[in-house]
Amino acid sequence: MKLLEDMIREKGVVKAGNVLKVDSFLNHQMDIKLFNEMGKEFKRIFADKPINKILTIEASGIGIACVAAQYFDAPVVFAKKAQSINIDGDVYSTSITSFTHKREYQVIVSKKYLSSDDHVLIIDDFLANGCALKGLIELVKDAGATVEGIGIAVEKGFQDGGQIIRDMGVNLHSLAIVDSMNDATGEIVFRQE
Ligand code: 5GP
Repeated sequence: MKLLEDMIREKGVVKAGNVLKVDSFLNHQMDIKLFNEMGKEFKRIFADKPINKILTIEASGIGIACVAAQYFDAPVVFAKKAQSINIDGDVYSTSITSFTHKREYQVIVSKKYLSSDDHVLIIDDFLANGCALKGLIELVKDAGATVEGIGIAVEKGFQDGGQIIRDMGVNLHSLAIVDSMNDATGEIVFRQE
């Protein structure tokens, strides 16, 4: 998506350790006009899918998911980060290893908000090693629900996640795929569709 790529080129900062900082418009300060265009694009991509729920993960997926949800007329459920001691039988839970924080944490979704009737679009801001997505897919499967697709804002194509998730047979679309980035020069190269 050209608008997102232009914004990443203009305002993204390449950090050491394969981290792309986009917190001036995507995951700290949020550019809602951009989110609105991303929401429209997700709707265009997944228009033929019977999506009745959007699932994302706390915290940075929530804004993107909420704006997109208006185009799907569907509620948003976000997987909550939880202390494992608080987990009871009323929730689906899984553990996720954070790429940016390098630690493992539990995420939960209440059984009240995910069921076998649900046709789910998963939305998140970044795809790196795919751990967050694998966890979200597992929660959907545990609920007996169906993953209709996954919409990602920024995929780092030089990390494994995209390949792993596509190999699972899931309909994954990323609005911008970064094929390489250089923290010394700041250069970012996008995949051409
Ligand atoms: P994964 O589980 O695919 O390795 O990483 C996905 C999660 O890590 C995303 O939800 C996102 O919050 C965070 N993340 C991964 N890579 C980056 C990055 O380069 N920049 C930022 N800002 N977040 C990232």
